[in-house]
Amino acid sequence: MLRYHTIPVTAFQQNCSLVWCDETLDAAVIDPGGGLDLLLAEVERRGLKLTAIWLTHAHIDHAGGTGQLARERGLPIMGPHPGDQFWIDQLAQQSRMFGFPPAEDFTPTRWLADGDTVALGHTEVSVRHCPGHTPGHVVFHHAGAQRCFVGDVLFSGSIGRTDFPGGDHGTLIASIRERLWPMGDDTVFIPGHGPESSFGRERRQNPYVRGT
Ligand SMILES: [Zn+2]
Ligand SMILES: [Zn+2]
Repeated sequence: MLRYHTIPVTAFQQNCSLVWCDETLDAAVIDPGGGLDLLLAEVERRGLKLTAIWLTHAHIDHAGGTGQLARERGLPIMGPHPGDQFWIDQLAQQSRMFGFPPAEDFTPTRWLADGDTVALGHTEVSVRHCPGHTPGHVVFHHAGAQRCFVGDVLFSGSIGRTDFPGGDHGTLIASIRERLWPMGDDTVFIPGHGPESSFGRERRQNPYVRGT
């Protein structure tokens, strides 16, 4: 089974999640935007074996620590979807613009596409491509645990911004409706910022996507 622990990192309080297989303790870190010391202390404390970095998208608060962590630990980088290459190319510029420490460059070991799976110990997680906030945004879904790590696609009571280059409101709404809702109302999602919620709750109460 999949377990996870979420640690808010960076000045943007981005929800970086450690996910692991409870049988093998193989772990992946989703969106290491920063706070690498905190993350690695948690890995140590729980006795996990860090095996990969998974990225939902390449905004600085999600991807800023990726290059350094991959280099120091020799980890493969899974994702995001190739639509975010231009955001990876602009990491240095993003760091300066938002006052982040300089981000090390990186190249994904494996780009992800809709329908892919990524393995973690004895379990695996499905990848869905959910463009709209960024063109190459993906989410990580574990049906057995009824959990989905959605980055900046959907929040409790809100949705991702679409006013950045490559963002598109209609595309984002379609991603939510066609790729998140079918995972089921009981599925709990871990957003890139703020508290967890369920898809059912957002379908009923979120003013941006209610009734879609
Ligand atoms: Zn973002
Ligand atoms: Zn974010």
